[in-house]
Amino acid sequence: YPPERVRNFSIIAHVDHGKSTLADRLLELTGTIQKGHGQPQYLDKLQVERERGITVKAQTATMFYRHTTASLDSDAPRYLLNLIDTPGHVDFSYEVSRSLAACQGALLVVDAAQGVQAQTIANFYLAFESNLSIIPVINKIDQPTADPDNVKDQLKRLFDIDPSEALLTSAKTGKGLEQVLPAVIERIPFPRGKCDSPVRMLLLDSYYDEYKGVICHVAVVDGALRKGDKIASASTGRAYEVLDVGIMHPELTPTGVLYTGQVGYVISGMRSTKEARIGDTLHQAKSTVEPLPGFKPAKHMVFSGLYPADGSDFEALSHAIEKLTCNDASVSVTKETSNALGMGFRCGFLGLLHMDVFHQRLEQEYGAQVISTIPTVPYIFEYGDGSKIQVENPAALASNPGKRVVACWEPTVIATIIIPSEYVGPVIMLCSERRGEQLEYTFIDAQRALLKYRLPLKEIIVDFYNELKGITSGYATFDYEDSEYQQSDLVKMDILLNGQPVDAMATIVHNQKAQRVGRELVEKLKKFIERQMFEITIQAAIGSKVIARETLSAMRKNVLAKCYGGDITRKKKLLEKQKEGKKRMKRVGSVDIPQEAFHELLKVS
Ligand code: GDP
Ligand code: MG
Repeated sequence: YPPERVRNFSIIAHVDHGKSTLADRLLELTGTIQKGHGQPQYLDKLQVERERGITVKAQTATMFYRHTTASLDSDAPRYLLNLIDTPGHVDFSYEVSRSLAACQGALLVVDAAQGVQAQTIANFYLAFESNLSIIPVINKIDQPTADPDNVKDQLKRLFDIDPSEALLTSAKTGKGLEQVLPAVIERIPFPRGKCDSPVRMLLLDSYYDEYKGVICHVAVVDGALRKGDKIASASTGRAYEVLDVGIMHPELTPTGVLYTGQVGYVISGMRSTKEARIGDTLHQAKSTVEPLPGFKPAKHMVFSGLYPADGSDFEALSHAIEKLTCNDASVSVTKETSNALGMGFRCGFLGLLHMDVFHQRLEQEYGAQVISTIPTVPYIFEYGDGSKIQVENPAALASNPGKRVVACWEPTVIATIIIPSEYVGPVIMLCSERRGEQLEYTFIDAQRALLKYRLPLKEIIVDFYNELKGITSGYATFDYEDSEYQQSDLVKMDILLNGQPVDAMATIVHNQKAQRVGRELVEKLKKFIERQMFEITIQAAIGSKVIARETLSAMRKNVLAKCYGGDITRKKKLLEKQKEGKKRMKRVGSVDIPQEAFHELLKVS
């Protein structure tokens, strides 16, 4: 297949607008997967995979398609089409931009009834900025409430898309689907590369397979890649031999060669995904090449400490984290020590969802028992002597007692919110409570408003989306992109148990919110720390000033007292339950703190 007969495209959409279903239909239409046989909902399966493990993503599928133009030509040329899937959630927008780096075009799918939503806008701009040809697809036209003309108006108004360009489809009934692949071939340019140059390719993704080792997904930009070739990494200079090369059709299918413009996989004896840096350029060994532009690297938005729930498990946790980062290289990991929790790790994540998934996988797949500390965003603090530090762990601020902080900065995001117009009032209230600054307020049609806000990142990682959904009866859609740092009045708040500061509970808050947050934190803690044989005082303090205080009185009865002499199985159960609870305790000083207490602290902003 010469480049002229190759098309690389992706499908972008707001979540639930029918991306996976449409992809399925296209794979069926080209015979890549069997209709209703074998694996139903091929890409949905991948989506589940993605939800469980966000980097285990065989997201590219190659299809072969015979394109017949008007004449019924039996020798109609066959095309090789690469469908490059993109994840939907905002945490992973960097992954969208990386998928798009290998594409020349995109299908922008919009639900005919829901219209343009927040992620439609975010994804459109990602594709637009990458200079992709965009084919608008208005899907779900079978729905009774479908209003494709309204969607066309929105596309015109927001993106200046000519209404005549829109394809109308139903991925459910199959209506209109026959127009999709011809449009891909006719409207999306073929990949331009130098066929005769030494091979040069972009590393799109990598993952570790127990049997095959590191599998890299690549887009061949120039030249051809053959089994047996010697290739090298532009970033590390290390050389490898190509052991296997092929396409995803949709499973790994060896072809022995990938030509200019094609997307496929390479296995080259890399030991760990750390060698396979996403965004790296791989090229013919011993040739000097210009590295490809790559793309926006993963940016860590949220940091949290991960500690073994039981001090003795440090090695096990360490092992589990190492294993898991082999499959999810987007997590950053550094060792840290807490006086309250012992040895652990400071991890950087792309967002809260990413953090949750990582945490869950550690527990489910590796049996690790983890305590995670209050998530924090990377703040910047400037000292009197002019030095600046990035603070990923609030406790670290204490380690510079001699230095006076003169200024602080916090990261912000630009949030896009789309809502039915009756909810504009409450949403504006929410955003100003969260220290937002309004940047835009427009209507995208007669019923729907678009709001753009600059918000501190810290304010949206804590329960923002849930609250937004709550006050808009679930109608709001939301997306964000990271933006610059802004100066802010921040203070470090300590939590003290019986007068002892617990470093793992320290947090950085906005000065104006400190009072309220302090109150909420101590109240939450009071609820979750179990009463013990002695009195416990819980305090929140800024510097030496206590701003909130609660007292947990001593326990009078023990657990078994209630059923003394009672039924033996009940007694056993109760003991079991107590043991269960114990496992997730962390002893800080003389106080046992359950995992839930740490977890609950996440919910206070
Ligand atoms: P994605 O999140 O964009 O990948 O969306 P999915 O493909 O998972 O689809 C979301 C839901 O919409 C699923 O329940 C689909 O069955 C349904 N759906 C997809 N396409 C259509 C369509 O054309 N018509 C109707 N009525 N439902 C559809
Ligand atoms: Mg889906």
